[in-house]
Amino acid sequence: MSSDDELIALDRAHVWRPYTSSDDHEKRSLLVVARAEGPWLITGDGRRVLDASGSWWCNNLGHGHPRLRAAIARQSERMMHCTLAAATHEPAARLAAELVAIAPNGLTRVFYSDNGSTAVEVALKIAFQYWQQNGRPERKHFLALPGGYHGDTLGAMSAGDVDEFTSVFRPLLFGVRRPPDVVNHQWEPVFERLFALLREGADQIAGVIVEPMVQGAAGMRTYPADLLAALREETKRADTFLIADEVFTGLGRTGPLWACDHAGITPDLLCTAKGLSGGVLPFAATLATDRIYDGFRGDKSRALMHGHTFCGNPLGAAVAREVLAIYRDEDILESADPKAAKLAARIQRMTEVPGVTAPRSLGMCAAFEVGAPGYMGTIGWQISDAALELGAHLRPLGNTIYVVPPLNIEDADLDHLLDIVRESTERVLVSAP
Ligand SMILES: *Cc1c(COP(=O)(O)O)cnc(C)c1O
Repeated sequence: MSSDDELIALDRAHVWRPYTSSDDHEKRSLLVVARAEGPWLITGDGRRVLDASGSWWCNNLGHGHPRLRAAIARQSERMMHCTLAAATHEPAARLAAELVAIAPNGLTRVFYSDNGSTAVEVALKIAFQYWQQNGRPERKHFLALPGGYHGDTLGAMSAGDVDEFTSVFRPLLFGVRRPPDVVNHQWEPVFERLFALLREGADQIAGVIVEPMVQGAAGMRTYPADLLAALREETKRADTFLIADEVFTGLGRTGPLWACDHAGITPDLLCTAKGLSGGVLPFAATLATDRIYDGFRGDKSRALMHGHTFCGNPLGAAVAREVLAIYRDEDILESADPKAAKLAARIQRMTEVPGVTAPRSLGMCAAFEVGAPGYMGTIGWQISDAALELGAHLRPLGNTIYVVPPLNIEDADLDHLLDIVRESTERVLVSAP
């Protein structure tokens, strides 16, 4: 047995794969990745496959960036882990200051956790507990957008609305109010309904949580910046918190460093993970304002009752610091602009393929539809299979095909990826017998 076959056999026998039925796990082909470099996943026999989904939307600087490898090596020689309970260390303390310096103005406090879901749980718990102990205990409810996705833990699922992911767990989730879903990409009525819910229930609303500008898991759905700005105004008027889940959109994925920057707003709480570590270690942060932080002053009973074993993990924090340094030194955001323009132009042209609809992009995130919407669509998977043959690992969201390449992908590699996207889509939609 070749070692790949052995690994596949071991995997099929013992690994429980995310979002994959036990039967599908036995049937679907598995890519055995031996190494990864830049935008490439590399198999044991040297085959190179473009990582079009950015290893689940987090690989913003390519695989194996030499400076990230060096940062991990350096930090690992000093200290790999240490509690953040009544202790601190250079990576956690300096990273917090560095994050505050580049965050939307007014976010001054950093709570560390390990992943996007926990960053969201922390934000929800902070908002909830804040009102409980600051004179507004009736503020127990959250508002959210239709189609939002905020992670897979119970609180994050409650805030989210991607039914295929959460419906089975409904009885375990707390109710979150949200307007009916968007029709024909018309977001104004959705936000108008959201504002109405906010005005009606302002006294009961602990916060409004949204993915700013792009709803990732709902199928890379984008909405205009002026609606995000209007939401900021409405939440201010209601004097309740705006929680920006920038787990996917942060760190330049949509163009500016934060998607909130498109609207020039500061949320009360901001969640970041995925690209924060360059997508190489599980690491997350929830940022908050002084006003919120000050609501937790007083005796022990007023402390935020939340903490993770790996809060502020030194390896993760050291890597995140190096990520921010690379963004500065390599002008990651500026040099991604022309790449994003190329991506936008080529994704628009995908409508030349009969059957492709709704092309859209924002920064280095682009998507189009290849059939009836919904996560359970199957045409996307046929295109994904064709793309793998042609040399790209595309993970569709049902019939939504998307690409989220590294922000620093070489132009030639980006062209090559978009050639494969085009050809695999044509193979399935046009040349199918
Ligand atoms: C991926 C994602 C999460 C969850 O992050 P995990 O690290 O997978 O737990 C939360 N919110 C958004 C917007 C995401 O895209």
